[in-house]
Amino acid sequence: MSLEVPLSQQGRCAVHPDLPAGGTCSRCGSFFCADCATSVSGLGARLYCQACAARPDVNYLETLRQRYWGRRDGWAWMVGGVTLLLCVTTAAALAQWGLRATKESLFTLLLLVPVPVGVAFFLGRRWARHALIVTPLVMAVAADFLHRDGRFLYALCVSLGLIFALRIHRDVRNQLFFRLPVPPGTLQALWNERFNNPMARQASRFGFSALFMPMIAPVAVICGVVALRRVDPKATPPIGRRNQALMGLVLGLVSPLLWGFVLLLLLTDRIHF
Ligand SMILES: [Zn+2]
Ligand SMILES: [Zn+2]
Repeated sequence: MSLEVPLSQQGRCAVHPDLPAGGTCSRCGSFFCADCATSVSGLGARLYCQACAARPDVNYLETLRQRYWGRRDGWAWMVGGVTLLLCVTTAAALAQWGLRATKESLFTLLLLVPVPVGVAFFLGRRWARHALIVTPLVMAVAADFLHRDGRFLYALCVSLGLIFALRIHRDVRNQLFFRLPVPPGTLQALWNERFNNPMARQASRFGFSALFMPMIAPVAVICGVVALRRVDPKATPPIGRRNQALMGLVLGLVSPLLWGFVLLLLLTDRIHF
């Protein structure tokens, strides 16, 4: 006796009825063939039919990419603001002292060096990302050429400028503003940071704070409970951070007990002496 299912009774791909099904979609449950089975980055080994894989809630990392694609982030607005400030400051300085062929006037004009870079950065020109790193160095060299007695100050400004420029250069959200390719792993990290159960992170923060300020403990407990109820690794997209939620809850419960114990020790000490 054979246990093989007759070909006519086997599942068929919902899109290609002439092909046998290789499995079912993790979302809608319809049969798919080997060609139609689609994996989605950020969702592990789950397989979907092509229609479901294209849905924004399933392909959530792609949705995240599109959400920030070409949209100015906080850094872009900050660079734009600083550029505007530099223009206003230089204009005010020139209105006050006028433009003369003195070193002081040239020194004031140095403030205009980053303006084209800042404008290009705000407008999303890719070369401006790299120029932003070089600009502090150029300014320091030029400033040193005009005034040799401010080396320590220039070095300090260059260091600060470089730290900010490198920080901006590495920022994923800013790379998406410049429409640069970002690998799925990096998008996943961005999603984790912003949208993966943020309440759990709050719970753990409140929990640690509650160790020093016991009045925060109830907030940590409430956040911990809410975050713990949200955890669902099978959801699409998966909701995690169970450990952080638990940490907040436990610290929120332990903190009042700890403080109660310390108070009790202090009170018994007073009664004895
Ligand atoms: Zn489906
Ligand atoms: Zn198919």
